[in-house]
Amino acid sequence: MNRFLEKAETLDKTDSLKSFKDKFVADPSLIYLDGNSLGKLPIKTIETTTNIIENQWGKNLIRSWNEHWIDLSKDIATKIAKIVGAQPDEIFVGDTTSLNLYKLLVASLALQKEKTEIITDDLNFPTDLYIIQGLIKQQFKNHSLKILESTDEIFMDPATVREAINKNTSLITLSLVSYKSSFLYDMKSINNLAHNKNSLVIWDLSHAAGATTIKLNETNTDMAVGCTYKYLNGGPGAPAFLYVRKHLQDKLTNPIWSWFAHQKPFDFNPNFIETSGIQKFAISTPSILSLGAIEPGLDIILDAGMSTIEVKSKKQSAFLIELIKEYLIPLKFEIASPLDESQRGSHISITHDESYRINRAMIDPRDKSTKIVIPDFRPPNLIRIGITPLYTSYLDLYEAIIRITEIVTTKEFENYSTEKLTVT
Ligand SMILES: *Cc1c(COP(=O)(O)O)cnc(C)c1O
Repeated sequence: MNRFLEKAETLDKTDSLKSFKDKFVADPSLIYLDGNSLGKLPIKTIETTTNIIENQWGKNLIRSWNEHWIDLSKDIATKIAKIVGAQPDEIFVGDTTSLNLYKLLVASLALQKEKTEIITDDLNFPTDLYIIQGLIKQQFKNHSLKILESTDEIFMDPATVREAINKNTSLITLSLVSYKSSFLYDMKSINNLAHNKNSLVIWDLSHAAGATTIKLNETNTDMAVGCTYKYLNGGPGAPAFLYVRKHLQDKLTNPIWSWFAHQKPFDFNPNFIETSGIQKFAISTPSILSLGAIEPGLDIILDAGMSTIEVKSKKQSAFLIELIKEYLIPLKFEIASPLDESQRGSHISITHDESYRINRAMIDPRDKSTKIVIPDFRPPNLIRIGITPLYTSYLDLYEAIIRITEIVTTKEFENYSTEKLTVT
């Protein structure tokens, strides 16, 4: 037997998390390697959301606000806090990642208006960059944005960050794990560099939460935002989260004054009085259906343990890199992720001139007896292979790489259009 196949089977057999994949809806005809973009559906979520819809909404109607719904956001926050190493009263769950970032950017820039420089990098997610650009254009007109240059869009030299931060730096905002290359920052050292110049830091944890151990308190993190529909398996467009360290909460003001940030929303007072604590970052009536859908995925992560998940992620990444080196490098692929595991999240990006069409052939094989393999594509030529240890097996990784090999050597990808679909 092929030694990689043999290794995959042995690693699966001894995997302490192997039973966790049964907690997710599965389709034996496909291998899902895109949990970094949309996590799988936990089976329990079907029951939980059905209960919310049929009983809480359907039968109990508005009475459910007091019985189940008004504290739901806090209950979810408590679980997310455990996953990211924060206190429950430092996490707000609601709105979207982009909106939460907007709130924190405005709040923190307003805090030190005399400092006019914002720093980010070219590894950051576009929405983050757009929000900063918009704020400088519309509201913080004296501010400027410095975008640090990475090495080949793969990793950031810590010296680049160190040299960039100065006493005019108001704020640094970065993705902890880059959506492109999977580069993982050393949070604590960046926080320290920033704090030495009295600068604040906002981390975007979207590609990191549920994928890698995060210790927001221990690393002295000021603020963070993150998404729940990727590694946290909360469902498409699920509410996001926001973190503000306890001692900063009193100093910051949510730019959107709204009733859920009011001290007493149900007094219906015409004048705004800001509430205290993390709740001041709320805006609106919580999206109960999608909030409820987040909880089962979080319970699975807490049950498995974040450090166990991370250990398996690193082991699977190492195996995947071995496979890529053996099978794909000879076919003109390159690895576009850091090779050092301490600098990497839980996906591996590879490049090839024909990445888009290879990706299409994997997802939509013409021969219907061929196993579907779902990674994703990001411009200009990245195929991202997401490792989600809760439901990815070593055999999945082996089979996926063999499938890519087949698509390239038989030129099967030539049957596909280079025209991009709306969502890649
Ligand atoms: C997925 C992701 C987002 C998504 O933002 P939305 O407001 O939920 O659309 C933002 N930032 C990063 C780094 C992401 O990976």
